[in-house]
Amino acid sequence: MNTDSRFVGRQIIGRYAPSPTGDLHLGNLRTALLAWLSARARGGKFIVRMEDIDQPRVVPGSADQILRDLEWLGLDWDGPVVFQSQRHELYRAALDRLSGLELTYPCFCSRKDIQQAIAKNLSASSEYPGTCASLGADEIAIRKQQKTPSIRVRIAPELNGTMGDFVIRRADNLFAYQLAVIVDDLDQDVTEVLRGVDLLDSTPKQQYLASLLSSKYLRIRYFHAPLMLEPNGNKMSKRDGSYSAKEWRSEGKSPEHLLGYLAYSIGLASKGVPISADQLLIDVVNGKLLNSLVFS
Ligand code: GLU
Repeated sequence: MNTDSRFVGRQIIGRYAPSPTGDLHLGNLRTALLAWLSARARGGKFIVRMEDIDQPRVVPGSADQILRDLEWLGLDWDGPVVFQSQRHELYRAALDRLSGLELTYPCFCSRKDIQQAIAKNLSASSEYPGTCASLGADEIAIRKQQKTPSIRVRIAPELNGTMGDFVIRRADNLFAYQLAVIVDDLDQDVTEVLRGVDLLDSTPKQQYLASLLSSKYLRIRYFHAPLMLEPNGNKMSKRDGSYSAKEWRSEGKSPEHLLGYLAYSIGLASKGVPISADQLLIDVVNGKLLNSLVFS
């Protein structure tokens, strides 16, 4: 339970922010379950946001399927589902704000340019080495005639060594994940982000952007849940067709069986005991858990 004095007495707002790029696999569902339990167990709100900003990767019908899966499991949410594809003005305003602070610059590097620059860089960092950080206005104007640049944010000197200047708008003109997510988390007054540990590297980047964009940035707490792996140890993937809720359902198995399995897989319940989302929540609230991995 949360004992940090910054958060005591605050309305908890948790969120689940899937990308509609395919059917949710069991690992995605387990993260959704944990995010839901964590927020609801403390009387918090839970919101769902569809991260469809990367339109070329969106799979038609996937957003609906995701919402059906969550409903089927009994993971309810508050308010309307927000779609990133409809929030471009907010991202644009944030980008303009950062540019107004002179914290952005255009970057013309290709992936290959960056790899070569990193290879030459003696510091052994795998972060962007700042190749385009100090191009003059004339050079920028000339290069823009040949190529649309991406836009990077300059990191504060004290963060040097922990991250490099990173992309907030891509060269294909799409707003980058890092920018869209933090703009939304701030705009939706999210107080806790619980997501997979695969996004751990993104968290300091988003916290940095938040510190530039809002005085409310310290309000967001971050938790990272372990990933569920394939039996062969590989990461699960929507694209590679990892076992999905849809398949589970089509085999005639119940949501309680799936929830029991997910809870067991993370040490929240005993093996082979079907359980509903509401019962799991009651067990969390009553402290009747095998493991307090995420909630301690
Ligand atoms: N949309 C991201 C994904 O599905 C998650 C983003 C987040 O939780 O911050 O991997």
